[in-house]
Amino acid sequence: MNSSTVTAAVAAGLLASGCTYAALSAESQFFGKTLIAGNDPNEIALTFDDGPNDVVTERLLDVLAQHNVRASFFLIGRYVRERPQITRAIAASGHLVGNHSMTHPWLAWQSSARIRQELTDCNSILEDTLGVPVRYFRPPHGARRPAVLTIARGLGLTPVQWNIIPKDWQPVGAEEIAARTVRGITRNQQQKRASNIVLHDGGQAGLGQPRLPTVEATDLLLRKYSPQSGTKFVTVDSWA
Ligand SMILES: [Zn+2]
Repeated sequence: MNSSTVTAAVAAGLLASGCTYAALSAESQFFGKTLIAGNDPNEIALTFDDGPNDVVTERLLDVLAQHNVRASFFLIGRYVRERPQITRAIAASGHLVGNHSMTHPWLAWQSSARIRQELTDCNSILEDTLGVPVRYFRPPHGARRPAVLTIARGLGLTPVQWNIIPKDWQPVGAEEIAARTVRGITRNQQQKRASNIVLHDGGQAGLGQPRLPTVEATDLLLRKYSPQSGTKFVTVDSWA
């Protein structure tokens, strides 16, 4: 390669990595505005993706109720269709329910028609099941391009990302999941911002994913950040 070819290749590489960053980085606003968190360092939103998921979600609802805390759940439409009772139990407990697409594809790489279908199908099943409109949407994997955000907003959905992801799908145990989350909360508090934590009560591979360590980690976090600690647990709509 001559030097101009090298320069072009480097530029293309930078452009590609920049686009990948904008598409996949949870906090990048390059492809359009997304909701992340407010400015009160004492506020925490627990968000749970990829449910509903049978006993895991049911136990999680028990833990949240014991601590009198409301969370935000981004549900996969095809699981909602199979588990309408759990979906209704989530909403009946006062939690915010959002759209996480019908089948959990990487929307950034899909056609506009497919993106629209994924979002409208999930909205329809949620609204049929709960009888109320859906207002919030989290892109699967956090992946988006401008069309994903434009289509979501056109359907009345506010796109929501996160600023803490403790990777609770890794088999590291509840204490490590909680420790990773605490480090993220401490960092956010130092930076004078609220914490929006993404955890998983289900998984994209199918119903029955083993996520009980996440439920246990949630209990550990709720004990640590008790009301006496000055922490306030909020749902993501409080930052809209
Ligand atoms: Zn997901």
